[in-house]
Amino acid sequence: MSDYDFDLFVIGAGSGGVRAGRLAAQLGKKVGVAEESLPGGTCVVRGCVPKKYLVYGADFGGAIKDAQKYGWNVGDVSFDWPTLRDSIQKEVSRLSGIYSTLLEKNGAEVFRERAEFVDEHTIKLVKSGKTKTAKTILIATGGRPWAPEIPGIEHAIVSDDAFTLDELPERVLIIGGGYIACEFAGIYSGLGCKTTQVYRGGRLLRGFDPEIRDEVGIAQENNGITTKFNASPTGIKKTGGGFIVTFDDGSKIGTDLVFMATGRKPNTNGLGLENAGVEVAENGAVKVDKYSKTSKANIYAVGDVTDRVNLTPVAIREGMAFIDTVFNKNKTAYDHTNVPSAVFTRPPIGVVGLTEPEAREKHGDDVTIYSCHFRTMKNVLAEKPQRVFMKLITTGEKETVVGIHILGDDSPEIIQALGICVKGGLTKEHFDKTCAVHPTTAEEIVTMKPREPNKNTLVS
Ligand code: NDP
Repeated sequence: MSDYDFDLFVIGAGSGGVRAGRLAAQLGKKVGVAEESLPGGTCVVRGCVPKKYLVYGADFGGAIKDAQKYGWNVGDVSFDWPTLRDSIQKEVSRLSGIYSTLLEKNGAEVFRERAEFVDEHTIKLVKSGKTKTAKTILIATGGRPWAPEIPGIEHAIVSDDAFTLDELPERVLIIGGGYIACEFAGIYSGLGCKTTQVYRGGRLLRGFDPEIRDEVGIAQENNGITTKFNASPTGIKKTGGGFIVTFDDGSKIGTDLVFMATGRKPNTNGLGLENAGVEVAENGAVKVDKYSKTSKANIYAVGDVTDRVNLTPVAIREGMAFIDTVFNKNKTAYDHTNVPSAVFTRPPIGVVGLTEPEAREKHGDDVTIYSCHFRTMKNVLAEKPQRVFMKLITTGEKETVVGIHILGDDSPEIIQALGICVKGGLTKEHFDKTCAVHPTTAEEIVTMKPREPNKNTLVS
């Protein structure tokens, strides 16, 4: 008989926590899971899933226009926000229910309330006041939106609020140049809002390949988004009809909605980590080793709360590696290299591996760049200027492919398959020997030519 109520207690029923909790329960372990919000976490409830539905919704507007070039007489069209919003929320509820069921069906006990540490083996359930003990505890509390404390910040929304707005504003002002800012600028412009994006830097999507950063700027322009660079907000004032946002360059912008997409922070506030002796970094992230073990031997953490690679599938893999390490006697460290990912701008971005600056930093002059630019057949007939951009980065005598960067329709789908090639260490020769699938966008990846020499793309 164990001395504890549970073999494993998971705090947070998001992607990483649910996967780990379910796997442990399937192994016959006694598992408890606490979740203060809806099971499913950021991804299902207020992130990836509802966001992707919004992107689909936004794409239809353009598709209806394009359809006319393909002979369709579409008549009068209009968009109804409550219909899309409510359909998405219905689906979110369904998925959240599935997450809960997945745990319970496998024998885990789910507590729909907040949990905090009392000590390294004890959890307090805040609403009911109960305490539970566990041999092993997994922290999987994710992250939360963060915004700077400027005057009037209470008038702004963050991504959590964007899915349940009462009405769609006429004018939207998005602050930030990262994933969420770029994705939501694409969504709002596609849904017909007059959209402005203000970024404190000079090129969107810091950390991405410089050419992708340029291309996403062009795509935002093609979508009718007004982009303003090198400005940070200093205050928000409510006016009769909306809000006025002031910036550190002295400019002002009037809008009906201020959306702060200025980053996310690990969700560790008030978790009582100090009671358990769990160390955190300066930004609140739980410090872990490569096995996701914290500074306490029986406490682990996975997902965004550790601020490693903040993506749903990574949290799931970390959760699986944790189960192997702790319950399957098979020490497993998840390999965070060459993780393919996507940004759902319109068109979207798909990337895997090193950017050009990273490749040059690591391999010096031993880097060859292949790239191409073209309009898809669909856009040619629709008379749309938007182009696809593809870039392939190789290194070494054998020209191993170490990075692929694409902006264009379907690039998230394409990059999933290309991720296997980069992870598998394939070379340019493998790409060259692979026959094209014609006519597709993806076929260009097997026919790419070296980029013109001396093209300087690395200035920021
Ligand atoms: P990001 O870190 O991507 O972007 C934050 C943006 O806010 C940056 O442009 C940053 O500027 C800017 N910023 C930060 N502080 C301030 C400030 N005080 N004033 C003005 N601007 C500021 O965060 P997101 O919230 O967009 O996304 C968080 C993470 O969530 C991502 O990194 C990603 O891991 C994940 N995510 C993944 C998605 C996907 O896979 N498709 C979608 C959405 C999120 P600067 O660049 O100068 O630092």
